[in-house]
Amino acid sequence: MNLIIAANWKMHKTAAETAAFCRELQKEESNFEGVDVIICPPFTALPTAGEILQGSKIKVGAQNIHWEEKGAFTGEIAASMLLEYGVEYVIIGHSERRHIFGENDMQINRKVKAAFNKGLKPILCVGETEDERHNGATELVLQRQLVSAFEGLNPEAINNLVIAYEPVWAIGTGRAATAEDAGNAGDYIHDLVREKLGVEVASRLRIQYGGSVKPDNIGSFVTLPSVAGALVGGASLATGTFINLITAARKAVLH
Ligand code: PEP
Repeated sequence: MNLIIAANWKMHKTAAETAAFCRELQKEESNFEGVDVIICPPFTALPTAGEILQGSKIKVGAQNIHWEEKGAFTGEIAASMLLEYGVEYVIIGHSERRHIFGENDMQINRKVKAAFNKGLKPILCVGETEDERHNGATELVLQRQLVSAFEGLNPEAINNLVIAYEPVWAIGTGRAATAEDAGNAGDYIHDLVREKLGVEVASRLRIQYGGSVKPDNIGSFVTLPSVAGALVGGASLATGTFINLITAARKAVLH
């Protein structure tokens, strides 16, 4: 199974900046064998990314969707609007959506279902806060977030499930989780998916680690048996760093 490394740009980069980045990255794509690389720019830059990367092995993802197809939802974007621009993936339930914008587990469940129904591949984000971790509640939180995200999903309709384990305290702080913690969380997530969605889905599941991933630490995560990639914020914003990160991941796995 390929590694999956996704760039979450959050609210960074105009369409012009996205174009420059995508052109640079595309020059390197022949060196990305064994890695699915996904760029998730802001909504306004998706058409540009989709156009430049059309036919490329580098894929485009959005950072959010609404669960309805259309309607009176000011400021929201539906799956079909993303598909129009060649978007294949969508980040759902990122901790900034949960904690800054108040998204709850029920809404995230609806978004996951909408993504699958429309043929978008969700990158479902889960992870505990620092307090939850100190209270020994990491697995309980993962269980709650995952069980509710899976509510009502038909395992037969799931062909591409990506789950990003992103401890909230590690995102954008420069304090990555240890490989041991990421591995334990990855094992727990894998077992839970097998229990709730079956062996088939679990065998195709790819779990990413996210939280202060850099070129010099990615190797310790992608070599874990239950981790198959990373969701990367800060270190995905400069082409050079992002390319170094992909190269380091390939090196760690291939050698
Ligand atoms: C993220 O935005 O999902 C993330 C993990 O950010 P960073 O890599 O900057 O910690």
